[in-house]
Amino acid sequence: MKIAIASGKGGTGKTTVAVNFALALEDVQLFDCDVEEPNCNLFLGFELEPVEEVTCLFPEINPDKCTLCGNCADFCRYNALAALPKKILLFPSLCHGCGGCSFVCPVGAVEEKSRSIGIIEKASSDAPLKFFHGILNIGEAMATMVIKSLLRHIDESKPAIIDSPPGTACPVLAVLGFADYCVLVTESTPFGFHDFLLALKVAKALKVPVGVVLNRDGLGDSRVEDFCRDEGIPILLRIPNDRMIARLYSEGIPFVKEMPEWKEKFEDMFETIKALAFKSTGVQ
Ligand code: SF4
Ligand code: SF4
Repeated sequence: MKIAIASGKGGTGKTTVAVNFALALEDVQLFDCDVEEPNCNLFLGFELEPVEEVTCLFPEINPDKCTLCGNCADFCRYNALAALPKKILLFPSLCHGCGGCSFVCPVGAVEEKSRSIGIIEKASSDAPLKFFHGILNIGEAMATMVIKSLLRHIDESKPAIIDSPPGTACPVLAVLGFADYCVLVTESTPFGFHDFLLALKVAKALKVPVGVVLNRDGLGDSRVEDFCRDEGIPILLRIPNDRMIARLYSEGIPFVKEMPEWKEKFEDMFETIKALAFKSTGVQ
């Protein structure tokens, strides 16, 4: 069973929920898919080791063969190629490695080369949790490709908690499209509500069952709660705007470690999610 922890925007406490949830359970895996800014290990402090370099193909144009016909630049829908009067210019960070330019070149002037776009790392085997994260190289746009490589390391025989990237763009779709259940972390503020609705729309479009964790509960108003009640969306957990939790967060300490009463709350949430996911999709 794969549980994505998502939010319509950053800063809602998504990573805090993912880390504490994973630490509260036995024999689960945690995958940090926020590959542009993986933060889970700031709280976990594991020794990490590289497991895979993520690569992508990109074109190299042989000027001796190129006739400057411009087919390749016309074809590229990512605008990674520009046909100048005397040469074809490549913008590598825009290239998605689709291989189309080499396909449409009439004279075989496009050669495909490989370049690194990111890396997958995992916690060493003596860590108390099976943990993986991906890091997208700075300046690269191919977050989805790194996420897909990362998700291939999931052990299907164990529950996996997946910290999704924030927002509602392609990288989030890659995670939610893969998940059996989505936990949306939100705050009940006007901005929080707006972003929550966007994220909910994405999850619904992908037909992933959704439950909500209300973070900093007690701040803001009741709009998320009222909406969830009217729409039949379960509130799985409320994390109060608590001074101790805020202090532990600022010190980089997962609060479940210092506040053992939360272990049971996350375990209960896991049981609820299993029951709800089974009810909606037949997943156990
Ligand atoms: S491989 Fe695809 S994305 Fe990259 S330059 Fe060629 S057509 Fe564009
Ligand atoms: S399609 Fe081939 S020949 Fe035409 S401009 Fe591109 S590389 Fe040159």
